[in-house]
Amino acid sequence: MQSPAGAAQAPPRAGGFQRSEIWMDTLVSIQIVGDPPRPDCAERVKRAYAWFERVEKTCSRFDAESELMRLSGHVGAATPVSPMLFECLRVALAVAASSQGAFDPTVGFALERLGFNQNYRDGHKHSSSIPPGGRVSFRDVRLDAARQTVTLRKPLVLDLGAVAKGMAIDLAAIELQPLRNFAIDAGGDLYVSGRNPQGNPWRIGIQHPRRPEHLGVCLIASDCAVCTSGDYERTAGRGGADHHIFDPRMGRSAGAVASVTVIAPSALLADALGTAAFVLGSKRGRSLLERSGVEGLVITAEQQAIATRGFCQFLA
Ligand code: ADP
Ligand code: MG
Repeated sequence: MQSPAGAAQAPPRAGGFQRSEIWMDTLVSIQIVGDPPRPDCAERVKRAYAWFERVEKTCSRFDAESELMRLSGHVGAATPVSPMLFECLRVALAVAASSQGAFDPTVGFALERLGFNQNYRDGHKHSSSIPPGGRVSFRDVRLDAARQTVTLRKPLVLDLGAVAKGMAIDLAAIELQPLRNFAIDAGGDLYVSGRNPQGNPWRIGIQHPRRPEHLGVCLIASDCAVCTSGDYERTAGRGGADHHIFDPRMGRSAGAVASVTVIAPSALLADALGTAAFVLGSKRGRSLLERSGVEGLVITAEQQAIATRGFCQFLA
């Protein structure tokens, strides 16, 4: 289970409506402000969680029946896909291009070999039967926007772990929008809307990457996503020495950065750009965030903080 890297901070008894469920191997908590809660609150929260279920069913690399894994079986042919899968791949390939391949949704097979191959629900270990060897990259994935098809030019395993959660958070946030004041926290990837229970913008504590019990920084934000990627979140292989963010250029876990926090209008963007900046390293990572028009903070493995120009306006 992933430990929360960031958390919307609320007093112990905040009133309103609160619920947590596990999706995507992550504790997903939804908090709605308003005492008493609106009558449609529970129904909307239910529909918000249904988006997590749908995105997971579509995009999971650990389920042979997901649309993503069925697509991986079609090599060389233009395959029609759902709008949700098409949009996830479109964003993933755009971030791959703008990060010169540091971000790359074809890292699935490499992650499988590092030991990131276990379905968290049933413990089943997934192993793909594609022939190893032969480099693959995001350039081997072609999208046709007019026909909504995807063509894989080589056998490869797609991984949308850096975009799917963001996509689910955004869809859930749209579902909750009529309730106005709420926070969605999916293991440190958040969307905060409107006001907190005290009637102020949300305060978001970001975990210190090396001292889990300490808050690194506290942010104040509203109507935006705040996503954090850390090297402490998921480990496997070599006694836990490998973590889940892979540098495709080096062929191993990315080592220069301890955590990246991105503030963006959508969680999809914040999630993907955070992972991309993590692989790129502090200076090039910050430059990607600035070019992409989002704010962020990179903490290096040596604990140095490198922030975008506008990041300080969010500091509490
Ligand atoms: P989480 O919020 O689950 O910690 P992150 O946003 O930090 O996820 O992204 C990590 C996930 O991104 C990995 O679990 C994997 O699925 C995927 N991933 C790892 N390395 C790369 C990469 N170089 N490019 C694209 N996706 C990656
Ligand atoms: Mg991410």
